[in-house]
Amino acid sequence: MAAAIGARLAGLRVSVLEPRHDPIDKACGEGLMPGALAELERLAVRPHGHPIAGICYRDSSHTAEHRFAGGPGRGVRRTELSRSLHERAGELGVQTLDGRVSGLVQDARGVSTTIDRGAEIRSRWVIGCDGLHSTVRRLAGLDSTTQGRGPQAGRRYGLRRHYRLAPWSDLVEVFWSDGYEVYVTPVDDELVGVAVLGPRGLSVEAAIAGVPALAARLAGALPDGSVAGAGPLRQRVWAHGSGRVLLAGDAAGYLDALTGEGMRIGFAQAAAAVRVIAGAPDGATDLRIGPRAAADYERQWRRASGTANRFTGALLAASRSPLRRAIVPVAERFPVVFRTAVEVIAR
Ligand SMILES: Cc1cc2nc3c(=O)[nH]c(=O)nc-3n(C[C@H](O)[C@H](O)[C@H](O)COP(=O)(O)OP(=O)(O)OC[C@H]3O[C@@H](n4cnc5c(N)ncnc54)[C@H](O)[C@@H]3O)c2cc1C
Repeated sequence: MAAAIGARLAGLRVSVLEPRHDPIDKACGEGLMPGALAELERLAVRPHGHPIAGICYRDSSHTAEHRFAGGPGRGVRRTELSRSLHERAGELGVQTLDGRVSGLVQDARGVSTTIDRGAEIRSRWVIGCDGLHSTVRRLAGLDSTTQGRGPQAGRRYGLRRHYRLAPWSDLVEVFWSDGYEVYVTPVDDELVGVAVLGPRGLSVEAAIAGVPALAARLAGALPDGSVAGAGPLRQRVWAHGSGRVLLAGDAAGYLDALTGEGMRIGFAQAAAAVRVIAGAPDGATDLRIGPRAAADYERQWRRASGTANRFTGALLAASRSPLRRAIVPVAERFPVVFRTAVEVIAR
């Protein structure tokens, strides 16, 4: 939806195709980093939520915290983010169609997309923003063949549950435990989100029980809604576009939610895809337009996501090595290192 809003602001005619479940919810830590908030502001999307002043890492005996230098981020329920994006898209005249992409064929002039194995819509371009298990990615032949292979043991999954209580902190608290991480994000005046990243089979309750300081905070708080899950998180792609089909957000491949940057990067990729499309020649049947745009997008995608992916990759590698136990102690002992890392995430 952010891509659609950006496209309308760039003067393009645009339709959004999405399954009917409005407003959209999903497993997410729901922390909009300052950079993500700035991008939403550029689109004039202003969701309600709870300020996030910075990030705090904790283990059983160490704490490191840093407050964002350039102003806060915001914890925002995904349903509220979805509502505010839809509202803005409606104001701009974005057409929304209910349904799932089930087929996709492109030629030199455009793309024919099949909805729910029935109706077909024709467009000049498609931006696939359909998440971790993207159908558009698969249909465009961009899934890496190694997808789904490799050891099950190393795969990571995400879970999220809300608890009804007033946030006790304006920081996103990340509890590093043995083999998993728990993220606590204030998302409203009386609502706290708990997200867990770790191996398959881990439950939110077991993860919380493994972090006594957090279990004590949540004791007696009522869960709000059910547990949502996502994964496996790692999704590989050959490329981020093929001809007139460009991928943005998790659909464009994903590493891990460890740094809580998914939405910021997704918005930056969506903006890059819109720039490429808005700058491509109009209405021509030249066979080279699609491949040129995909190559241009590949460069812009790397600019939008490269640093973040390298940073997430490095932290992920450390978290899976014997260095894991040193992450929070080092962050506490060397505040300048932690501050630099958090400011990278905040951009
Ligand atoms: C546990 C966890 C915690 C996280 N915490 C954070 C955090 O704190 N901050 C942060 O920035 N990021 C976080 N992330 C990452 C973030 O959630 C994602 O990066 C972000 O949601 C990606 O947005 P997206 O639009 O690409 O995909 P999604 O948000 O998954 O949206 C995909 C959309 O595509 C639709 N769709 C799916 N299939 C089809 C189809 N066939 N046809 C049409 N539509 C379809 C879906 O209904 C959905 O609306 C977290 C992720 C996890 C798993």
